[in-house]
Amino acid sequence: MRRILWFRRDLRVEDNPLLSFGAEVLPIFIFDENILKELPKNDKRVTFIFHHVVKLKSDLQKVGLDLKIFYGNPEDIFEELRGFDEVVASGDYDSYAKERDIKISHILHFRYLSDTYIFKPKEVLKDNGEPYFVFTPFYKKARALLTHKNIDEVKVAEHNLAQEDYEGIHIKGKKLPLELGSIGFIKQNIEIVSPHIKLDNFLKKIDRYQETREYLSVDATSSLSVDLRFGTISVRAVLRALFSLKSSDIEPFIRQLIFRDFYAYLLFHIPTLERQNYKYDFNGVEDDDKFKAFCEARTGVPIVDAGVRELLQTGQMHNRVRMVAASFFTKDLLLPWQWGEKFFALHLLDYDLASNALSWQWSAGTGVDPQPYFRVFNPYLQSKKFDNDAFYIKKWLPELRDIEAKNIHNEAFLLSTYIKDYSTLNIVHKEAKARALSYYKKSLH
Ligand SMILES: Cc1cc2nc3c(=O)[nH]c(=O)nc-3n(C[C@H](O)[C@H](O)[C@H](O)COP(=O)(O)OP(=O)(O)OC[C@H]3O[C@@H](n4cnc5c(N)ncnc54)[C@H](O)[C@@H]3O)c2cc1C
Repeated sequence: MRRILWFRRDLRVEDNPLLSFGAEVLPIFIFDENILKELPKNDKRVTFIFHHVVKLKSDLQKVGLDLKIFYGNPEDIFEELRGFDEVVASGDYDSYAKERDIKISHILHFRYLSDTYIFKPKEVLKDNGEPYFVFTPFYKKARALLTHKNIDEVKVAEHNLAQEDYEGIHIKGKKLPLELGSIGFIKQNIEIVSPHIKLDNFLKKIDRYQETREYLSVDATSSLSVDLRFGTISVRAVLRALFSLKSSDIEPFIRQLIFRDFYAYLLFHIPTLERQNYKYDFNGVEDDDKFKAFCEARTGVPIVDAGVRELLQTGQMHNRVRMVAASFFTKDLLLPWQWGEKFFALHLLDYDLASNALSWQWSAGTGVDPQPYFRVFNPYLQSKKFDNDAFYIKKWLPELRDIEAKNIHNEAFLLSTYIKDYSTLNIVHKEAKARALSYYKKSLH
């Protein structure tokens, strides 16, 4: 048996089900030109992925294997690899990935594995066999089903490495040096920390996770989302580390991991959630000027602008700020949630279609969850509560550093005061909320 082991969202050697398939193997990674050609040359994620692909290659070499790296259209690449018996890869649920894999399965036998999530999409079902659409019952069922089988470390099989040319990057018949520039991208200055170091640091403070995770200046969360996204650590390894802590309060964190599963599960069962409302017909009002102001951190609402600055500079944004910014975008600015989803998709290092699109639908009130459309965050109350001293806001908006924290949470002060270098759309939250609710109500009839 000659197998291609296709690494995608599982950029690691340890605890990787791909490596439980033995015989003669060709481990590969494809820089997919259909995805990459849409991205700006300074995309931060490509720097992150490239770093981990090079690390994966070196880690595979340490266990007697290697990684052949391609750039191109996956279908064309598999046409060239027809001499193999099958391709093995972990499942991906977004529509592009599903269509691509179906096309490839017409070229070579395709064996899907389950790696990215704790559960397979059909594992957590109601007693009548239907999927859950509400999180809490899903969580309860998932928790009851979670056993060592879901978290055991995968056993590595015996392999013979296929005789191939493993040097450089293979691009349409040419071989270029293994450098980011060979695929047309420019290295970005982003901090890349080993997921194991992040996990170790996080476990030391896990007892305070629930109490502090919403506060913007407390480094309370794990920062593992980007690693779970690209599989530089397995979700099983994270769970094993949690279960080894006998005395800590691990449940709130497990709940978040199950939340991540839930969004992927929903997207699997309702693929249209990727772009279309699940409920309600309204879709916001297109307004290029407001959209531009949001994307350039010029709305005049400090917590929202600080979040966008953080996103543009680092590729990250605190979860609470994502919620406030998305609520402001869809309600106060009344813009289509799909525009916000696309903006986040372009900049988030941890961008994941399921978590992003479904969180945007949650914020817009158009998703499957019982969240009512009339729930609107007040961004000033949010910043007062979660960034009372305005440390987070001042970090990302230095133009506000001389403004007293209490005034940063005071809409009337901000609307009536000229602040050098800080622009505003002059949105009055109460009026914007009323306009959004009236628009929504009209659309319901
Ligand atoms: C509008 C919006 C867009 C979002 N887009 C994404 C996205 O593209 N990719 C992404 O991974 N997360 C997304 N999230 C969820 C959440 O903001 C991030 O997962 C979280 O901020 C990551 O930080 P962390 O790893 O320190 O989280 P922790 O608090 O340490 O949580 C642990 C893990 O649980 C998962 N998790 C935590 N919160 C959520 C959540 N609300 N939804 C789903 N999974 C969660 C993540 O994998 C995370 O790494 C979005 C949330 C909102 C409101």
